Amino acid sequence: MVGIELRDSGNLLTVEDSLEELRALADTAGLTVVGEMTQKLDHIESAMFIGKGKVEELKTWQAELDFEVVLFDDDLSPRHQRNLEEELGEKVRVLDRTALILDIFAQHAHTREGALQVELAQYEYRLPRLTRGWTHLVRQAGGGAGRSGTAGVGLRGPGETQLEVDRRQIRARISFLKEQLEEVRQQRQQHRVQRRRAQVPVVSIVGYTNAGKSSLLNALVDEGGARQTAPVLTEDKLFATLDPTTRRVRLPGGKVALFTDTVGFIQKLPTQLVAAFRATLEEIEEADLLLHVVDITHPNAIEQAKSVERTLTELDITDMPMVVALNKIDRLDSEQQAALLAQQFPHSVPISALKGLNLDQLLGRLEHELYESQTLVQVRLPYRRSDLAALFHDQGQVETEHYGEKALIIQGRLPARYLAAFRPYVIKPDAS
Ligand code: GDP
Ligand code: MG
Repeated sequence: MVGIELRDSGNLLTVEDSLEELRALADTAGLTVVGEMTQKLDHIESAMFIGKGKVEELKTWQAELDFEVVLFDDDLSPRHQRNLEEELGEKVRVLDRTALILDIFAQHAHTREGALQVELAQYEYRLPRLTRGWTHLVRQAGGGAGRSGTAGVGLRGPGETQLEVDRRQIRARISFLKEQLEEVRQQRQQHRVQRRRAQVPVVSIVGYTNAGKSSLLNALVDEGGARQTAPVLTEDKLFATLDPTTRRVRLPGGKVALFTDTVGFIQKLPTQLVAAFRATLEEIEEADLLLHVVDITHPNAIEQAKSVERTLTELDITDMPMVVALNKIDRLDSEQQAALLAQQFPHSVPISALKGLNLDQLLGRLEHELYESQTLVQVRLPYRRSDLAALFHDQGQVETEHYGEKALIIQGRLPARYLAAFRPYVIKPDAS
């Protein structure tokens, strides 16, 4: 593994912590790490990403350790990758964090949509890098439909023409995958419209990978006494969950809400990859409320939470109400310790998904946010949306109302439960 410490990189984690995370990712992908190297740099070297001396050092290590893969913690350009592979020789493959994450995703995508998304992301990543063989790290990966027999995979140094054929085939495959995804997306949209009509609020669970999102969803389904489906897969691996899962949960007051478990976030999750998972993440955009799960026992809990918030901002999800659950408190030594940590996260509820601690309190908070706590909004409603104007009067508190030429402008307070319906018409973000 190779990590660099760049000046002014804006990274949330130290190079050591980031490498620790890369090690967990490598482990999840089935790789064994035999060594790690770091370098402090003012800027990325244009030829091989790291300095010449470090590359020489890698070669010496190669002779001693006979490793097969060099894993960079940061994104390599196709050029860096090519130069490094030329320098390090036939036996060594050079990969970066993105390639590794894609490989893990490929192993964990179980639905058709998940498989399509991963395949698309892999080809888009691969296309500019297609100079020599690109094979999966874990060959037997299985699962994911339609990933075998792909153009260019496994070929070492194809001739120029072969390369062009490969590229053309990959481009054709990319268009095909995009069409397929669009179809799936429309079906999903249909589902969401139905859900909306059914007036059931949607809570989207977000959080850093391994924070306990899936465990919490399972526990809440139990707590609400509404278990009717198979438990969501939980695992002490990064990215065990890739496909969004939705479960019904009963709130303390008796009302029902839909909870959606989403893919875990991670620092340095490349935007390109985030975009590939847009369909999955659309679930988040459609939510009424976000439930942010933080593993409070993790040494980098705060950085992880920040990283999740950063990704949400990248996805333009900025004005959604959020409840923070500080998970795994069963691992803390004392209640004081829990209280101390909770201070760092205002409006949070300390819980244990595994031991079922404080879950009723968490559900109570979610219910309160959904139905009672009011958020100040200003909306500009076209006159054809008189249904929404009526809804505002019914469920919210209208403070001012102004009949414009083309639209009705309302300022007032609404519970989270109804914000999503008004989102397209909001003109001033929450000012409360
Ligand atoms: P996800 O990636 O956020 O969905 O995380 P998972 O639900 O798959 O959980 C990741 C790991 O954390 C699993 O090994 C869980 O058993 C463990 N875990 C989840 N919640 C708790 C908790 O409250 N306490 C403890 N001690 N472990 C937990
Ligand atoms: Mg999960």
